[in-house]
Amino acid sequence: MWGPAVSTLSRASKEVVRPVQLPERIKGLQAIATNLSWSWDADARALFRRIDNTLWYLTRHNPISLLQRTPVERLAVCAEDPEFLAHYDRVLAGLERLSSNAGTWFGTAYGDLAAGPIAYFCAEFGLHNSVPIYSGGLGILAGDHCKSASDLGVPLVGVGLFYTRGYFDQRLRIDGWQEDADETFDPATTPLAPVRGPAGELYLTTVQASGRTVHVGAWKATVGRIPVYLLDTDLEENDPADRQVLRQLYAGGPELRLRQEWILGVGGVRVLRTLGIQPAGWHANEGHAAFMFLERLRELTRQGVSLNEAVRRVRATSLFTTHTPVPAGHDVFSHEQVERCAGRLWEEMGVRRSDLLALGRNPAAAERTFHMTAAAIRLSGRVNGVAARHGEETRRIWGDLWPRREPSRLPIVHVTNGVHLGTWMAQPLKDFLDRSLGAGWSRMADDQQPWDRVLSLDSAALWEVHLRLKAFLLNFIREEARDRWAAYWREPAHVVGAGTLLSSGALTIGFARRFATYKRADLIFRDRDRLRRLLVNRRQPVQIIFAGKAHPADEPGKKILQEIHAFTRDPSFEGRIAFLEDYEMHLAHRLVQGVDLWLNLPRPPLEACGTSGMKAGLNAVPQLSTADGWWAEAYNGMNGWLIPPAPAGVDPDAFDAEQFYRLLETEVVPLFYDRGERRVPVAWVERMKQALRVTGERFTANRMVREYARGCYLPWLRGEPFNDDPPVA
Ligand SMILES: *Cc1c(COP(=O)(O)O)cnc(C)c1O
Repeated sequence: MWGPAVSTLSRASKEVVRPVQLPERIKGLQAIATNLSWSWDADARALFRRIDNTLWYLTRHNPISLLQRTPVERLAVCAEDPEFLAHYDRVLAGLERLSSNAGTWFGTAYGDLAAGPIAYFCAEFGLHNSVPIYSGGLGILAGDHCKSASDLGVPLVGVGLFYTRGYFDQRLRIDGWQEDADETFDPATTPLAPVRGPAGELYLTTVQASGRTVHVGAWKATVGRIPVYLLDTDLEENDPADRQVLRQLYAGGPELRLRQEWILGVGGVRVLRTLGIQPAGWHANEGHAAFMFLERLRELTRQGVSLNEAVRRVRATSLFTTHTPVPAGHDVFSHEQVERCAGRLWEEMGVRRSDLLALGRNPAAAERTFHMTAAAIRLSGRVNGVAARHGEETRRIWGDLWPRREPSRLPIVHVTNGVHLGTWMAQPLKDFLDRSLGAGWSRMADDQQPWDRVLSLDSAALWEVHLRLKAFLLNFIREEARDRWAAYWREPAHVVGAGTLLSSGALTIGFARRFATYKRADLIFRDRDRLRRLLVNRRQPVQIIFAGKAHPADEPGKKILQEIHAFTRDPSFEGRIAFLEDYEMHLAHRLVQGVDLWLNLPRPPLEACGTSGMKAGLNAVPQLSTADGWWAEAYNGMNGWLIPPAPAGVDPDAFDAEQFYRLLETEVVPLFYDRGERRVPVAWVERMKQALRVTGERFTANRMVREYARGCYLPWLRGEPFNDDPPVA
């Protein structure tokens, strides 16, 4: 990958990479490094840092690279150091506790339920930046879902795809045009382990695709208590074309996407069967996984079950989560494309072609197309959107599938997304809460109680923690710029645009997400003079940090990115606008933990949820956002700022931009610079506490997974399938 390989790692990569050879006494480090639970276990992270703090930094927190690069002499010293060994033994004991769910929420309340697990399918998983098989919000949500399921002891197994080249790495040309670099990543530097077939084969199953037999293997990622199987077709047994199918996430045209999704759905079910896993329920996270439902239909019809009855049975144990109301976010394939990939599936199933393809009919889309979201909705007994407002939108968009039902009786609900506290809250803040609320607060974190107590935290002390995280971010930005300047930037303007002139005293706003046009990164530039007056104010300066990738095929998104990039080197903004290349989880951590204000400006109602603002909130960073996604239900007047919906008949872009300037000029900036004793902005810190309280109480992934468990997983594990009428349209 370009980021790690060439930037921070450039200093370390000259060293020889060798297989890890650990002294006997500490050979469990291998097991600790290959269960991703270390990534949210402070004690485990501290153990790796103890081996070599600088290498930990240079490897971007990759324990496997760290162990590969640590000199044997240093490891030998660790193996003799009593303090290190006590620490090591403690972490290893913690790891062993993950082999059962004793003591967890689920284990305590429902430990007697032996059925399971729940199969959770997603096209991408964002587990850690060292495993680059995710593109953004959807994947990170799936990763957070697994981590919380692990913490709560919920029996879950993830199924996804292994992309040999991951998602593209972003490099910007000097003119700001995004180039898509890609490099194969080395699984040996990741915690992924190949899974062998029953007789030691590298593949676990086969799938017919495009008229050929494709062998499907899998890599296992261990995420605390949760296994995630990532399917791989880059095997010698396969035709070269099939070996390439899973090279890159969301790359290529519809035919390639279709084949990737076919492998995910059909191959995923078959791999679970080969491994002897019999799920009690099936959760498809976004429509990419809809062929999983089709494969289960095929299994039933092959046993002689009629298509109608098979649909009823599949629906009874299926849940579908939809993530976007934006049409481009839904895959639609022509019947011919489906037939070319899947072959004459209906013959094998003993059903009529038209009956099978009708499962993907969308009354609102072109005839003779197979719509993955429509199919997933028809084949799931429950459907949910990912925030209250998105639930309403989903009922509005898809209600037509049940033409004779009252909107209130549609089986479409919402489960608002959440973010994994252990992953996203900065360690210094956790330590501060330990000191202030008592070390037990995080165990009670699923109750309201510790979150109310946040309001009584010492303001000056909380502010100091924040300033430390902000300094850490600015330092990180400079070090990144230094590495890229040394490695490949050719013009000094790159260095300025990457944020090296940012100052620690100025109000710092973060805006980082995909550069999709509806997210409106360019909205604040509608009135440049007014923006400039805000930013370059000598007494109360404001600075803005941007980051994010445009989808490789999204030309309008790339244009917006290019425009913003031009502002970063416009001297009239005095270096107060920065763009950070290659947004991924590591950078996301630094940003959501270190800025003063999180900004989100989606055009309502197109943002289904928006999780980055939750990550900021868990770090006591307030948000300013339009009334869309989670913010429509989270804003309480004290935890940030809201741009109200534009009145009917008014240009929403003009209205929202005006509100943005007004809020900054009259509320945000004055509040931030209103300083009390020791220059603490007391009223601002009150907003920070509210941001932390509201997010901690209602927007963690633990709350989300418990909701999924109560609504669907538990009924399935108890053998109580859904019993709803299927849609008729
Ligand atoms: C959280 C996250 C996202 C998603 O952010 P949204 O606010 O939902 O758009 C995208 N990319 C990365 C790297 C993230 O950490």
